[in-house]
Amino acid sequence: MSKPTRESSSDGSGQAADESGKIVQADVPDSMMSLLTALRATGGSDTDQAPSESGVPKAASPARLPVGSSLDPDRIDVWLFDLDNTLYPASCRLFEQIDRAMGRYVADLLSLEPAEARALQKQYFREHGTTLRGLMTHHDIDPHDYLSVVHDIDHTPVQPNPRLDAALNRLPGRKLVFTNGSVPHAEAVLQRLGVTRHFEAIFDIVASDFVPKPDPAPYRELLVRYGIDPTRAFFAEDSARNLVPAHALGMATLYVQHGADWNVDPHEGADYIHHRCEDLADWLEGVVGADRA
Ligand SMILES: [Mg+2]
Repeated sequence: MSKPTRESSSDGSGQAADESGKIVQADVPDSMMSLLTALRATGGSDTDQAPSESGVPKAASPARLPVGSSLDPDRIDVWLFDLDNTLYPASCRLFEQIDRAMGRYVADLLSLEPAEARALQKQYFREHGTTLRGLMTHHDIDPHDYLSVVHDIDHTPVQPNPRLDAALNRLPGRKLVFTNGSVPHAEAVLQRLGVTRHFEAIFDIVASDFVPKPDPAPYRELLVRYGIDPTRAFFAEDSARNLVPAHALGMATLYVQHGADWNVDPHEGADYIHHRCEDLADWLEGVVGADRA
């Protein structure tokens, strides 16, 4: 999986992207090209797309998938997965290492006490989607340096997950990771889980030009770059707010609830959540069946 953020489809569909990520028209059906053009046209600038439930542009007037406990996997062509605390369980506390590293980075950068740094870190997360975006906006930091520092962690708490591997193997269609983290971090996690082989690409915070979820811009960029029809796509996330743009674009959504304090759903019963689970492998087995071999 070299250069995954630039890879074209590996499923034989023939869709491809040029260096800028623009879909090569000759390889995409006219109907899809119209949809992708509409998606990109709604993009505007990054700065005028602040996320809000009411402000998410509805580019494609998608046909909504039904809310319910079951999902027909044949209605989905592309499965998108968040990485941290979605593909691996929050109980292994991997993201807590990253969270602490971000706090140390803020403290060192601005010569703050740990409590002050943590407060500012959380403020930037709330206001900018990620701590990184806040630091870039207000302190002009080098994002590549930041990403290498905060992801320099011990990945061994992530355990191999043969049930997730088997469920992904039985899931028809393309699979991609969509993360506010970095490709090297995602690759390390996928390798630890033992599920690398299933993923066509990792769309990370570098691929999105450092504009994080839940800003709608990276969702649109991902769809365009990989030639994805959002009405036949699925997105699994442990951050409820990151499901809002996915739903607005017409994707089926799965909210992974792991009970951590930052994972509380502020919109109980919200219509942008089609499905809920506590464990991704459990839920996928419910969709495609468990591998009894
Ligand atoms: Mg997550």
